[in-house]
Amino acid sequence: MSDQFQGIEPMVYQSQINVPYSWWAGDTATRFFVTLRDEKKITATKCGDCGKVLLPPRKICPRCFTENMEWVKVSDEGTVLSFAVARRPFAAIPADKKVPVIWGLIQLDGADTALLHYLDGLRPEDVSIGMRVTAVYSEARKGTIRDISHFKPVK
Ligand SMILES: [Zn+2]
Repeated sequence: MSDQFQGIEPMVYQSQINVPYSWWAGDTATRFFVTLRDEKKITATKCGDCGKVLLPPRKICPRCFTENMEWVKVSDEGTVLSFAVARRPFAAIPADKKVPVIWGLIQLDGADTALLHYLDGLRPEDVSIGMRVTAVYSEARKGTIRDISHFKPVK
């Protein structure tokens, strides 16, 4: 290699890759999203062997490896187990969200696992682990997790 490029600062280009794709959501996710969209209900699967209620719902219990699952409705209300705050914009933040954006791990009443979702209607400094929150549904529901717009504090 020629010496003429030694000591020259490497050039860095900024670009973006857009990769549209589609996939089948599967029976379990389809039922969860259709129920959320059409009935405004949050549903989970309960293992018939160990009794754990899984949200997001799972077709097979990851502890027992059984398909012995039944559908149950869980509460719209739950507890914040953990949270994170984004104070600067980045690609994972949807266009309709403005920073600061707060994500919470929320364990809904009746579930044994937590759901990751947005917390809104409060300032980052007002979020705390253990606080009670409730689901706020989107006006126009499309069969996605954003049919729950966000979770807000229970007053
Ligand atoms: Zn189980």
